[in-house]
Amino acid sequence: MAGLPVPGPQLITNETDAPIAARIPRPVQAILDVLRDDGRAAYVVGGSLRDIILGRAPYDWDLATDARPEVLQTLFPGAIYQNTFGTVAVQRDGVQYEITTFRRDHDYADFRRPHRVEFGTTIEEDLARRDFTVNALAWGAVPGATATLIDPFGGRADLEGRRLQAVGNAADRFGEDALRMVRAVRLAAQLEFIIAPPTLAAISRQAELVRYLSGERIAGELHKLLAADRPSIGLRLMEATGLLRQISIELADQRGVAQAKVAGEDLWDHTMRTVDAAPRDAPIVRLTALVHDIGKPSTASDGHFIGHDAVGGDLAEGLLGRLHFPRVVIERVGLLVRNHMFSYEPAWSDTAVRRLIARLGEPALGELLALRTADNLGSGLPPDANGLDELRTRIAEQLQAKVVLDRSGLVVDGDDLIRELGLAEGPILGSILDRLVEVVVNDPAQNDRPTLLLLAQAMLTEDR
Ligand code: ATP
Ligand code: MG
Repeated sequence: MAGLPVPGPQLITNETDAPIAARIPRPVQAILDVLRDDGRAAYVVGGSLRDIILGRAPYDWDLATDARPEVLQTLFPGAIYQNTFGTVAVQRDGVQYEITTFRRDHDYADFRRPHRVEFGTTIEEDLARRDFTVNALAWGAVPGATATLIDPFGGRADLEGRRLQAVGNAADRFGEDALRMVRAVRLAAQLEFIIAPPTLAAISRQAELVRYLSGERIAGELHKLLAADRPSIGLRLMEATGLLRQISIELADQRGVAQAKVAGEDLWDHTMRTVDAAPRDAPIVRLTALVHDIGKPSTASDGHFIGHDAVGGDLAEGLLGRLHFPRVVIERVGLLVRNHMFSYEPAWSDTAVRRLIARLGEPALGELLALRTADNLGSGLPPDANGLDELRTRIAEQLQAKVVLDRSGLVVDGDDLIRELGLAEGPILGSILDRLVEVVVNDPAQNDRPTLLLLAQAMLTEDR
């Protein structure tokens, strides 16, 4: 076919597999060729193969071979031996390709990943340890043979049926590694696939094994789930199967809490609409959308949720902390949740607008507005309801006027105060700088050296 890359010399395949070969990029073909020239079996496997068959862009490239990691390091000088699971990473033009020696897994303990890994000898046994049939496909060959699709578990048919199904007995596979249940709902959202009924039933039965998983592994899947077009597909499955309750009791408790928003819908439905409405390319906003009303179930009283923003900020930080999100992410989400209830009125003074800017800081403010837009949509309102557009314009005006938001915008700094007023480093110096910021937020005209030094001196005498 015109326009498609021509397969490498060793990758000529039969008619039906030709479209697969044509979608494998040159660098991947080149890595397969290096392995095969050395007399090794070599395959593209897992999610990357699944995605190219579906016509999606793969997130990462996984290759499998019978060559041992030591051999891979000599075949690919500069390759990095990544972990104890036999994976070697090869860089080509800034892209990372992971080559994993065939494995068979052993000694699953505590419902987590295997304790010990044994190298395998065939692609079939390597595929057998993988989680879902659509992830247990391989494309490649043993040395001397023609590359073909290896599909021992009916993965291709499940791709066509858009269905996730565990390889082998679902209950056993989830008992080996409980993360597979979270991966199932994540993949269902990402690929917009259904989960086959026996696999889904096994998740519902064993959901509580998720509590044995590390927060990091859950967070990794949650992160990918939230990047789906419609995260609600996976989140609703989490709620329905009981996975959500293992991860966050507070979010699971949103089910059934009445909301006077969209007729017939509860608080969980509102959260789902809000997450889907949040911009896909703004991961912080999506994450915040998920937890923005996490404080509502515990503050619900007579149809009001007084203080749910402050309570929610703490609960959100607690949840993200347990999931080991980075500190800055936790703080940002907490800040947004605590501030998501502002109610803008056209009567707000410019000072009020500047105070909001100062409280949030510029990047967080953009996220707060995006969150409120999603929250409006999630409440069945127009995106700019509650004067959001006007507020956005007024914020832009203030920012254009170069309003001072923090110490870095003041025309004096700590050194000036030390030099001019004989102050020393310490909390008094810090508090004076903060009060000067406050003055300038109120009235930008005060951001002038003599004025600020005079004010600082006055503050100093007050403090004494
Ligand atoms: P993504 O599109 O996010 O990369 P993926 O399915 O490729 O999704 P990876 O984490 O890259 O996910 O894993 C690559 C492959 O390794 C999977 O497709 C699957 O075959 C296998 N795999 C990953 N995690 C597990 C697991 N917990 N249990 C069994 N097999 C797994
Ligand atoms: Mg992958």
